[in-house]
Amino acid sequence: MSQVIAIINQKGGVGKSTTAINLAAALGDLGRHVLVVDFDPQGNATSGFGVNKDALEADVYDALMDEDTTLESVIVASCVDGVDVAPATIQLAGAEIELVSVMARESVLRYALEPVRGEYDYVLVDCPPSLGLLTVNALVAADSLLIPIQCEFYALEGLSKLLESMRLVRGRLNPSLDVFGVVMTMYDARTILSRDVVGNVRDYFGDKVFQTVIPRNVKLSEAPSHGLPANRYAPASKGAQAYEALAREVVAHG
Ligand code: ADP
Ligand code: MG
Repeated sequence: MSQVIAIINQKGGVGKSTTAINLAAALGDLGRHVLVVDFDPQGNATSGFGVNKDALEADVYDALMDEDTTLESVIVASCVDGVDVAPATIQLAGAEIELVSVMARESVLRYALEPVRGEYDYVLVDCPPSLGLLTVNALVAADSLLIPIQCEFYALEGLSKLLESMRLVRGRLNPSLDVFGVVMTMYDARTILSRDVVGNVRDYFGDKVFQTVIPRNVKLSEAPSHGLPANRYAPASKGAQAYEALAREVVAHG
């Protein structure tokens, strides 16, 4: 049974793309078939897998907006066996506006994924840092949400808005949508703040919070500039190992 998981938090810089790339790559190494749908015009998940944006004939934007372009036709293989990428470029920014006048505008991604999702165990949608129409499409297409939360003072700020959006979408278009899990990112064991934030988030989300906490690790921030996930760039690094542990939890979660 394939699962569509939206990696979502309307805050920027919390580790969504890092999680999409490295969780997908770790799941691939566990023998799972994974599609990463890059749904952010910044295209960080695309470049993080070493996909050359300039050489693409079509991307996720075309699959959404052009009736003659299927999502399947824009998918490219990544450097990790079993892991594919539906790439995005800056042209996806146009979809945020152009979708407004499209029929069933909130469900375009859901329909686009329908013919391909059966090929994968997991479809991970890397969301943009907003609650606009692209994110609403991800909420409608997803079975569940994976929320990365950065270990910082304002960690929980804004999350009530995200959960409210989830409730709205659940009430109207996607009744079974739920939170798959919450992952704490950029944890710094040396600071009391990091420990406090993890405690606060566990109080708020309870057992939805993964046991695995992703540490702040320089290899995770360097890897994208080499177009590689951390388990290929620096497999022995704490960052790569943390995402492997997270992948095991995701698989065990079912
Ligand atoms: P988002 O997709 O939510 O905007 P990113 O995944 O792009 O966030 O992360 C923001 C920045 O922080 C990037 O430069 C990324 O390389 C860096 N980063 C993310 N997670 C970590 C981590 N665990 N350790 C160190 N740097 C990280
Ligand atoms: Mg991102």
